[in-house]
Amino acid sequence: MDFHGRLKKDEPLSKHSTLRIGGPTRFWVEVKTLVELQRVIDLANQEGLPIEVVGLGSNVLFSDAGFDGVMLRLSGQLAEWNILDDGLVQIGAGAINSHLVKALLKNGLIGAEFLVLIPGTFGGAVAKNAGTKNDEISSILKSIQIIALDQPRKVISMSATEINLSYRHSELPERSLVVGGQIQLSRGDTVIAASKVREDKDNRSKTQPYKLKSVGSTFANPPGDYAGRLIEAVGLKGTRVGGARISEQHANFFINEGNASSSDFLMLMAMAIVRVQAAFGIELRPEVCFVGFDGWKQLDHLVKTYTDEGLDG
Ligand SMILES: Cc1cc2nc3c(=O)[nH]c(=O)nc-3n(C[C@H](O)[C@H](O)[C@H](O)COP(=O)(O)OP(=O)(O)OC[C@H]3O[C@@H](n4cnc5c(N)ncnc54)[C@H](O)[C@@H]3O)c2cc1C
Repeated sequence: MDFHGRLKKDEPLSKHSTLRIGGPTRFWVEVKTLVELQRVIDLANQEGLPIEVVGLGSNVLFSDAGFDGVMLRLSGQLAEWNILDDGLVQIGAGAINSHLVKALLKNGLIGAEFLVLIPGTFGGAVAKNAGTKNDEISSILKSIQIIALDQPRKVISMSATEINLSYRHSELPERSLVVGGQIQLSRGDTVIAASKVREDKDNRSKTQPYKLKSVGSTFANPPGDYAGRLIEAVGLKGTRVGGARISEQHANFFINEGNASSSDFLMLMAMAIVRVQAAFGIELRPEVCFVGFDGWKQLDHLVKTYTDEGLDG
C-alpha cells in the first residue's frame, strides 16, 4: 500500500497540535479511505502497536516523551460530506468544521454555524460534543459510524442517543474511532446565518487569545460557573511555568509561549486545580484530552504533591 508520503516515522506530534507540544510518534499516518484505514489498523494490531486518532489536535495535549504507536489522522474520502434528503448531511470524521460550514451555507443549509468557532474536525467535535454557548453537536447529530480497533472490517452504525452526549463529553465505545456521522439541518436564511458567524468570530477574537498556541478552554466549566472566572479569582492570570503561561486575556486559556513542555502545561493545570479547590471547594475537570500517554496519572500526582507540600513545595 502506497501512502505517498502520508506515512511518517518519528513524526513530531508538536506539529499536529494547536498547542505545539509533543515528542515523536513512532508512526504518523494520514489515511484517505476506509480500506486504507482498515489496513493500517490490521498492520498495527499485527505488530502489537497501540493506535490513537486525532483531528486537528485543537483539544489535545501530547507528551514530550511522544507516543510509541500509530497516530492516525483521517482525510481524503474520510473527510468528505454529502448532502442527502431534507437537510440530512453525511460527513466524514476528518472534515474540517470551518470548511464544512462554508459548504453547508452555500447549499442553503443552516444550523451548524456554531462549528465555525471550533477549530477542529467533525470526528473531534463528536468525540467532545463540541459546542459554544449557543449550540452543541448533540443538538444536530443523528447517527455516527464507528469502527472498533479490534475488528476494523466492520463499520458499525449507532444513533446519537447511544453515545450519551453531555457537556463536552461523549461515551464512544472503548477502543473505537468515528469514521463519519449524519447531522440534521434545515433550509433557512443563509445571509443572516453567515453574518451571525462573522459577528461571533469578531466577538471571540475580542475576548479570547484565539491566535496564540492553546487548546482553547483547558478546563470544562463547572455547573453554574466558569473555569476562567475561578482561575482568575485565585490570582493565577499571567502565571508562568517554564514556557507555559495562563493567558492574561482569558484565564482558562493556557498558552505555549514557544518552548513549553507537556510537564509545564500539566504543572499549570495542577496549580489551577489545587488553588480553585482550596478557595472554592470546586474540582476543575480537564477539557483538554491527553492523547498517547497517561496525563491523568501525571496530573493526579502533581495535584497530590501540591496539596501535600503546598504550591511552593
Ligand atoms: C482557539 C480554540 C478555541 C476553541 N473553542 C472551542 C469551543 O468554542 N467549543 C468547543 O467545544 N471546543 C473548542 N475548542 C477545543 C477544540 O477545538 C474542540 O474540542 C474540537 O472539537 C477538537 O477537534 P479536533 O478535531 O481538533 O480533535 P482533537 O483535538 O484532535 O482530538 C480531541 C479528542 O477527540 C478524539 N478524536 C478526534 N478525532 C476522532 C475520531 N475520528 N474518532 C474518535 N475520536 C476522535 C481524539 O482522540 C481526542 O481524544 C477550541 C480550541 C481552540 C484551540
